[in-house]
Amino acid sequence: MKSIKNEAAVCCPNHCEEFDVEYWSLISADQDPDLKTAAMGGELNLVQCPQCGTFFHHDSDLIYLDAPAELLIFVFAEKNRSQEQELRTRMQRDYEIIKNTLAKQLQIDYPPICVFGLEALKNILQEEEKHAFESEAVAAAAAAQGLQVVRLKPSYARSHHFPYYVPAPGGKVSANAYALAASKVLKSGLQSKLLLNFKDQMSQEGVAIPLTL
Ligand SMILES: [Zn+2]
Repeated sequence: MKSIKNEAAVCCPNHCEEFDVEYWSLISADQDPDLKTAAMGGELNLVQCPQCGTFFHHDSDLIYLDAPAELLIFVFAEKNRSQEQELRTRMQRDYEIIKNTLAKQLQIDYPPICVFGLEALKNILQEEEKHAFESEAVAAAAAAQGLQVVRLKPSYARSHHFPYYVPAPGGKVSANAYALAASKVLKSGLQSKLLLNFKDQMSQEGVAIPLTL
């Protein structure tokens, strides 16, 4: 899926004369990593008034999709915060449309996240990056212990606060075997709250084995 750009007439915070801007309304992060970087750096949809030179963000609705990471974010304009209920209803409708048409080949089987404003999007992406870094450290530590590494389903890992990668159990696959493999990696000295949480959850009685890719 391609990213989509729109045009609008905007006015700067100093109320100079209106001018036309181009802004992104749909970001396909895996296709356009530069736009992801811009969103993380706070430069996405940043415009400058040609008259007074003030920089400001064009405040409008935006959809952010990172299909491989199973991350779908509806970013609503700050100015519409008071209409949250209405927007959530619309989001649900838009989500069904995206799921069934535009992105059918992407197999979106995970719920969207809904936030207001580009600052909130930036925060989610920064958290996401931390989560990815910690997951890579888990994978490296598991490999150093001579263990195989499996990738969890990203949306499942995110919602359960698990690492995206976990050590695979040797032998018979069970939740407890996953817990034991995680325990082995933690004992090697790795500091990871995500893996610790994974180990604790997998140690629970009757818990289902994790969703892997
Ligand atoms: Zn201005």
